[in-house]
Amino acid sequence: MRRRLVAGNWKMFGSNARNQLLLEGLASRAGGLEGVSCAVCVPFPYLHQAQSVLSESGVAWGAQNASQWPEGAYTGEVAVPMLADFGCQYVIVGHSERRSLFHEDDQLVGAKAKAVLEHGMTPIVCVGESLQEREAGVTESVVSRQLDAVIAEIGTEGLDKSVVAYEPVWAIGTGKTATPDEAQAVHLFLRHAVSARNADVGERLTMLYGGSVKAANAQSLFGMDDIDGGLIGGASLKLDEFMAICEAAIA
Ligand code: PEP
Repeated sequence: MRRRLVAGNWKMFGSNARNQLLLEGLASRAGGLEGVSCAVCVPFPYLHQAQSVLSESGVAWGAQNASQWPEGAYTGEVAVPMLADFGCQYVIVGHSERRSLFHEDDQLVGAKAKAVLEHGMTPIVCVGESLQEREAGVTESVVSRQLDAVIAEIGTEGLDKSVVAYEPVWAIGTGKTATPDEAQAVHLFLRHAVSARNADVGERLTMLYGGSVKAANAQSLFGMDDIDGGLIGGASLKLDEFMAICEAAIA
């Protein structure tokens, strides 16, 4: 059976005081869950805090972005080896907010995924279409172009050590969720595309759905055959809500 995972994406939210309560709650309630792994991807300045509270808890932590370069004169950037210093297990790459607001293209997302793998961490590779693209009927060509660019950098061997998150852009932070059938159709399409290259990797690949997942809709989404968990934005900032989502992913 494929690994189930629920990862929180805190985006640019948090403070020492608020994080402490949330992290301590997660450490005591989420670490012991069987049948699902839980993780939080926090803003860079709070990686040390996440590491100190979550170490030994069973809850993993990670970052939301990283540079493709290992070090150098890149003011304001954060390198993957720096994330390794803070015990990160996951790094989100290619989130739609990075693609649209910070102009990250497919090739750069692939290079970032490669850098993450080279340092022994797991990239959570995000793909997803805009509303305009969905309405134009090009969802499949968009997500396969995005995934192909990553595979071009890391190969199917690299993908085997990665997690893919399908996040329709129109569903992120909007309160609009893809229906379970809509999400499942894209997950199945992506899994077939990977399986066509390597059947074992396609079968094993953990694929998350992201886009306005909440306690109320998590179970129906995670109940679909090719949805193995979720990437959770807004709802990951509320302990009870996030816990309910993690529990809904238990197979
Ligand atoms: C996200 O940030 O990846 C996300 C899915 O956000 P939200 O759950 O708030 O839609």
